[in-house]
Amino acid sequence: MTRLRRVCGPEDPAIQEAAAILTSGGVVAFPTETVYGLGADGLNSKAVARIYTAKGRPATNPVILHVADAASARALVSCWPAEAQLLVERFWPGPLTLVLPAADAVPTIVRAGGTSVALRCPAHPVALGLIRAVGRPLAAPSANRSQHLSPTCAEHVASSLGEAVDLILDGGPTTAGLESTILDLSRLGARPRILRPGPISPAVLAAMLGPVDLWEGAVVTGDQQAAPGMMARHYAPRAKLELVPAGTGVTESSGRVAYVGLGSLTALPAGVRGVLLPLDAEEVGTQLYALLHELDDAGFERIVMERPPEEDAWVAVRDRLRRASAKETA
Ligand code: AMP
Ligand code: MG
Repeated sequence: MTRLRRVCGPEDPAIQEAAAILTSGGVVAFPTETVYGLGADGLNSKAVARIYTAKGRPATNPVILHVADAASARALVSCWPAEAQLLVERFWPGPLTLVLPAADAVPTIVRAGGTSVALRCPAHPVALGLIRAVGRPLAAPSANRSQHLSPTCAEHVASSLGEAVDLILDGGPTTAGLESTILDLSRLGARPRILRPGPISPAVLAAMLGPVDLWEGAVVTGDQQAAPGMMARHYAPRAKLELVPAGTGVTESSGRVAYVGLGSLTALPAGVRGVLLPLDAEEVGTQLYALLHELDDAGFERIVMERPPEEDAWVAVRDRLRRASAKETA
């Protein structure tokens, strides 16, 4: 049975227990403010390899290193541009990941063979307490099987990864709900580029840095070129997810169908479960994965969801829904 320990803050004794497991090369799932992470000692290649095995993650998809402060991040890069300093002063700890040229100390497996490293300082007392207790950066991708939905509570981790994890620290549901914004600053002299939209919006970044590119291309599994890990299908529920224009509704209801409306709920045939989410990008970001998990667990085969508005505020939610509804390739 997977061990699950409730944890109530950075001083909780469960953190020392988790740190001892990590120090000896184990893997521990822990809460961050975005989603739950599957952590291992980020400077121990064998420990990081266990993350890849547990998740079934392709070796071409690098992992983010989580640090307790900017000084620890600087020790892991070969160059620290002025933009990085500005951004971490404003957004760390918080849901912003920076991709920078890696120092030699960063294991190849963390970089998936590339020359850059992704770094983030999470704003969750348990995550920070754990990183400090280990005294080393923690590699921590989302604590779910590769391509599946990210976990926003400890039970999601247990049902997705089960026995593959040495310990799960249960800090309750996460608050931001969507994965961090990933900003690529590794191409020196080039425009900063958002590789994954997230809680920190393109507009906020552009206001600080000037023009920022938003990379929206879909890369097929295994392509190392544009941005590792940016697979077309990702973050997907087991149910088939379809996106439709607002107000469309559904006509037939063969099988178990759920319909998710944004801002209002149109009339639905008997037997279709209607779910109303507010027309508020931040709120939908917080609730989306928990809702998809719940509908999956309840056995829905088809989820029809209204497409969010084209406005900037919705870019992260649109990105996740696009990937979650993409066709399976393999
Ligand atoms: P997750 O598995 O949810 O933690 O997602 C981590 C994401 O970070 C991956 O999907 C990668 O796209 C991205 N990532 C990690 N390291 C790098 C890197 N060195 N360069 C670009 N993207 C990275
Ligand atoms: Mg993930």
